[in-house]
Amino acid sequence: AADLAMFAAKADGRNTLHFFNQAMQDDANRRSRLEHDLRLALERDELELHLQPQVDAGERITGMEALLRWQHPELGRISPADFIPLAESSGLIIPLGDWVLAQACRLLAEWRREPAMARLGLAVNISPRQFRHPDFVAGLQRLLQDSGVDPARLELEITESLLIDDIEQTIGRMEQLRRLGLRFSLDDFGTGYASLGYLKRLPLSQLKIDQSFVRDLLRDPNDEAIVRTIIALGRSLDLQVIAEGVETAEQASRLQELGCTAFQGYWFGKPDSTRHWHARLSDQAETEHRAAGD
Ligand code: C2E
Ligand code: MG
Ligand code: MG
Ligand code: MG
Repeated sequence: AADLAMFAAKADGRNTLHFFNQAMQDDANRRSRLEHDLRLALERDELELHLQPQVDAGERITGMEALLRWQHPELGRISPADFIPLAESSGLIIPLGDWVLAQACRLLAEWRREPAMARLGLAVNISPRQFRHPDFVAGLQRLLQDSGVDPARLELEITESLLIDDIEQTIGRMEQLRRLGLRFSLDDFGTGYASLGYLKRLPLSQLKIDQSFVRDLLRDPNDEAIVRTIIALGRSLDLQVIAEGVETAEQASRLQELGCTAFQGYWFGKPDSTRHWHARLSDQAETEHRAAGD
């Protein structure tokens, strides 16, 4: 019986091992397929920028965040949470990031001619590898010049991961971009490992409270304490604080009570196509125009 049990364990162990390897192999295959397809997606026009509104305390739309969408011809929609890390590790984030920034500048140039959108800011997510690329600053400068866009309309969302190593280089580069007129927002704030001491040295204009602290804000006193702290920190460093992932009216009003002045989340609007948001903003402008009495 003892021998039998041993045999079973071994067999089982072998099966488990086999299963594990198979899962790893499947995962590796999926990754290399996605990587291959992502390369093509850039050429085949399968990528699209969606927009999600950012609103002020009066619920007026003050800006938009650009969020990348990939419609794979066979696998359907693939989340940026899946393909951005892949693009980072493969280096594809460089052409991909260039594409996003070029689209963003095109959008901003278009908005300049539309009264309903001329004052909107546009926030774009920037990956660490993209930010650290030697051509990043020059490339962006060229894009801005060629499109004639006011750099102050463009906000770069970076994350704390950029602040862990090469901090001096990061600060130098941020200052260069700041001098060009661009703004910086620190995304997913509170989830990384960056030292708070660096915050005062960074030319930031905004802290973005991570959605994980907003989710349970009304139930978890720890989350409320963290949100309070971020808002206080923003105030003392003279940074705007925006909350992301606001899904309910209750979360929005609690955030307002805590002193938050900018918001983003499904409650105010889900990410949707540029077409969708252009139509919505034109309607809104027309209504306001009529309400103003002519
Ligand atoms: P992020 O920059 O923190 O963007 C916020 C994410 O939360 C987006 O997910 C958005 O769709 C989602 N979201 C917005 N409001 C709500 C809400 O009320 N509730 C919930 N549960 N979620 C909400 P998405 O679009 O899947 O993007 C995921 C991440 O992928 C982004 O996180 C960003 O880090 C990255 N990403 C997206 N587009 C780009 C891009 O163009 N370049 C780079 N480098 N990264 C990007
Ligand atoms: Mg973001
Ligand atoms: Mg975020
Ligand atoms: Mg993020």
